Amino acid sequence: MQGKRAEWEKACREYPDLSPFVLLKMSMVWHGAVLTEAALDRLQEPDYCFGKLEPFGISFGGRPADKVMPGGILLRDATFVYINYGENYRDPYQIDWDAGRGEFLLKEGEDVIDTVDFVPRPQFFGKTTSRGTPMEAVAEARAQKLILTAYQKCRLWEGGKQCHFCAFFTGGHSLGEVDCEDVYETVREALKEPGRFSEIYLSGGTDFGGEPPFSREVERYIRVLQAIGRNFSGRFSSQLMAPAYSRKVLEHIYKETGLTSYCPNIEIWDKKLFQKLCPGKEQWIGHDEWVRRTVDAVEVFGRGKVCTQVVAGAELAGPWGFETVDEALKSNLEGCEFFAKNGVIFLSTIWRPHRASRLGYQPMPPLDYYIRLAKGLHEIRKSYGLLSTNDDYKHCGNHPDSDLERLDV
Ligand code: SF4
Repeated sequence: MQGKRAEWEKACREYPDLSPFVLLKMSMVWHGAVLTEAALDRLQEPDYCFGKLEPFGISFGGRPADKVMPGGILLRDATFVYINYGENYRDPYQIDWDAGRGEFLLKEGEDVIDTVDFVPRPQFFGKTTSRGTPMEAVAEARAQKLILTAYQKCRLWEGGKQCHFCAFFTGGHSLGEVDCEDVYETVREALKEPGRFSEIYLSGGTDFGGEPPFSREVERYIRVLQAIGRNFSGRFSSQLMAPAYSRKVLEHIYKETGLTSYCPNIEIWDKKLFQKLCPGKEQWIGHDEWVRRTVDAVEVFGRGKVCTQVVAGAELAGPWGFETVDEALKSNLEGCEFFAKNGVIFLSTIWRPHRASRLGYQPMPPLDYYIRLAKGLHEIRKSYGLLSTNDDYKHCGNHPDSDLERLDV
């Protein structure tokens, strides 16, 4: 079997125009990584120790109950790598702490691949709001994004209509609906840390309640965005990740809040697979309408200020997925081209099978698929002059394709 270093070095030779750091990131996400005891102990110290509470409530196993999982990994060029720590990886990288060097090391067995670092602990972690809510339960940090969750539940799970790759909200902790005063105070506190955050990202599980459907969710997002906005004098760098709303609803949100960008995630571009894998989204909105509304949103937020993402690889998962990576690649690149023509940024994230999801734990497509996809998506968007200013490596770092934009001039 080819080792991870050999596979990565081969990818660097085959794709010389792609950053070796982005290729390493994809390899790390693909293979997974585990922390040695020495690394996990070092990460409990105050400079790195992350929150005990996970706003997306993903159920992770495989760690001592008294230890806190760290934030994202930073490669030497600031590429951000988010690992689902605690998964059962077949052949993961190891991340070790070398006390002598005072560095974290990315290793394959005894072979040191590179030095890595971790996102430092945000200064608002460990603090509480005036209502006594831990701020780390209200917001988390990813690269320079401050991530807030308006509703820590997803009602698509009712009746088993959740997206089949989803493992959000499967853990025990959930605040349900977030309190607006908690939001205001947490953002106020987070902004005190100089240079730490350059965008505020708001999302949440789907709530189709109200009449018309989704009105309860829309009004909640408006309240939360207004609470965030009390910290600013005008519009503020922000993104709402939410279902695809009609233009009228989006105009209402835009008028009432300081929101600057919008991300209705299609998750799966192929229509038939979307219908299978996202049954709740299909039932409440439907693929065609989702696409139409995403395109319409450009008239409200502007070109390049609307994006949508796919959970790349889930379209190849059994039992319904594409048979070959070439078919999957063709489908996603077509989706990207269609959206790019309409001023929408089409991004990919790497699907990591999770045992708490309906698709369960099954093999991922080969690493080469993700490399070809990231390269293809980036090239298409570039040819349309689209730049992911809200989702580049500094802001989000969850998308290998937008990581590649840093080399653009
Ligand atoms: S909308 Fe789908 S992906 Fe998002 S939380 Fe609900 S089930 Fe999960």
